[in-house]
Amino acid sequence: MNMPTTTKKFPTDGFAEYDYSLNRYRRAFQFFLFAVAVDVLFILVELAAGISPLEDIRRNPWLYGYVFFITIASFSFFGAMIGWREDQLEALALRDSLTGLFNSRYLWARMDEQWATGKRETGASSLVLFDLDHFKRVNDSYGHPIGDELLKHIGRILQNAARKGDTVSRIGGEEFVLFLPNTEETDAAAIAERIRHTISRTTMITHRKQPIKITVSAGVAGTRKYTAITPQMLYAQADKALYLAKAQGRNRVITSTISNRESYNTLDTKA
Ligand code: GH3
Ligand code: MG
Ligand code: MG
Repeated sequence: MNMPTTTKKFPTDGFAEYDYSLNRYRRAFQFFLFAVAVDVLFILVELAAGISPLEDIRRNPWLYGYVFFITIASFSFFGAMIGWREDQLEALALRDSLTGLFNSRYLWARMDEQWATGKRETGASSLVLFDLDHFKRVNDSYGHPIGDELLKHIGRILQNAARKGDTVSRIGGEEFVLFLPNTEETDAAAIAERIRHTISRTTMITHRKQPIKITVSAGVAGTRKYTAITPQMLYAQADKALYLAKAQGRNRVITSTISNRESYNTLDTKA
């Protein structure tokens, strides 16, 4: 997977609105400077042509004031407009359009940031991978639009369960990831279990008044030191635990500590 690198400051609160106004201010300032430069250039041209700008300004103060003000104001305004559009595109690039949750690009950038800045933190970070069980059946039985409705519903449940500082993202069709900085694996597993329980007990009523129930499997992994394990390794561990949760019958949460202890061969012989 491609991990985008970024120097941008990402919000530590997964639900706090990401600061989408940075480009607006930056572009307005850049265009402001450009307009000032254009005005200075005009004065230099006057000097080169043998006209005294000071005298000319004294003779026509209103004209100069008007021209200089209009150039600076209109350039700054257009800069802000361009920056505003850039802000909007940036917001789209970090969000999943169906659920409004963050996307995988944001998740990886957020994890990279945590690894870069959290190295001296004593606390752990945990990752939970959720995958809806037999979701294909929902699409096959009720149709794709109802499947989409269900995904949005699951997104809301995850969002409600997350705490300040957590990142909730949808990284694929029916796969969601919860990144929990400063959270031990056992605490992350308890949160994942609560989410699994909530989803299994929820009956969603679609806009066509059909009741649908679904379950979810989750894999949890945690790291104590940011130097010992990379975000990719943490993800791989959680993925392995998720695989085990599916293999053991779905609708369950498995932690990587468990998945490291049990081998897949043991499971095969059990089955
Ligand atoms: P498992 O329990 O093994 O995870 O079974 P599953 O059916 O959930 O797994 P599988 O990966 O085979 O199928 C995932 C399905 O998710 C396939 C696809 O139809 C559906 N899907 C993927 N993206 C979307 C989406 O954006 N909207 C809808 N409605 N369905 C989607
Ligand atoms: Mg899947
Ligand atoms: Mg699935």
